[in-house]
Amino acid sequence: MAEQNRPVTLVTGGADGIGWAIARRFAAGGHRLAIADLRRDAAEARARELGEGHLALACDVAEEAQVTAMVAAVVQRLGRLDVLVNNAGIADSIQPTLEQSGAHFARQLDIHLKGSFLCAREAAQAMLAREPGEGEGRGAIIGLASIAGLTGLPRRNGYGAAKAGIIALTRSLAAEWGRRGIRVNAIAPGYVRTPLVEALEREGKIDTGAIARRAPLGRLARPEEIAEAAWFLASPAASYVTGITLPVDGGWMAYGAAGE
Ligand code: NAD
Repeated sequence: MAEQNRPVTLVTGGADGIGWAIARRFAAGGHRLAIADLRRDAAEARARELGEGHLALACDVAEEAQVTAMVAAVVQRLGRLDVLVNNAGIADSIQPTLEQSGAHFARQLDIHLKGSFLCAREAAQAMLAREPGEGEGRGAIIGLASIAGLTGLPRRNGYGAAKAGIIALTRSLAAEWGRRGIRVNAIAPGYVRTPLVEALEREGKIDTGAIARRAPLGRLARPEEIAEAAWFLASPAASYVTGITLPVDGGWMAYGAAGE
């Protein structure tokens, strides 16, 4: 396939964890990747790891001007944008509510929710500017929600509100852009072994042993298992799927018993 015909996927927070697993999966599937991250050096190292034809970009998704510049750079350097994965997120998400500042709460909404909105808006502009081929959609947008947006997890009210907001944003954008050829879906992971979860465990904020015991599948997810769901949602195999949030949680949301 000619280089300019290869689809382009932009992954925010793509330098580590789930985002990096998604970048690897889409590159293996023939996509050209734009890896955007707060940490420029880490994004550049990852793009080099993927090989020729991929792009690294520095961007804070909570900063509107940086998001606009990021999407413009993708289109300028790679010629098109087919898939956006709104993955960037932060570990600083768990604090007893009575000790939480308004700034902490607002930061959760800024990075996870406002960042997802800004990136989706800019990406859709780029997707709508390109005429799709016969029978093709214009693009796919995938959000990273969480089980925290579907169920009550203590001490994560800002994070949970942001993730529930991503589920609502997903539905709203899917309803608006479906007829224009853009599908919008989200994934709600359970606990995934990533640097984010390792940081929470080091700080004593979560116990991965207890988490594994509660999950019906008896373990945490591997980032690659979330990447497979993202690949499915972006692919033609999901051509009639839009507006959903797919739990990839080892059965976490299905489990209702106490102490069994
Ligand atoms: P991670 O910390 O391992 O990686 C996140 C990446 O995002 C890092 O490379 C970081 O530099 C980047 N980043 C942070 N803030 C950014 C910003 N403002 N702009 C751009 N990049 C930024 O995290 P992860 O565990 O891979 O999580 C990825 C996403 O999945 C997050 O949205 C998270 O909330 C969600 N999620 C994770 C889990 C889990 O158990 N790990 C569960 C449910 C949902």
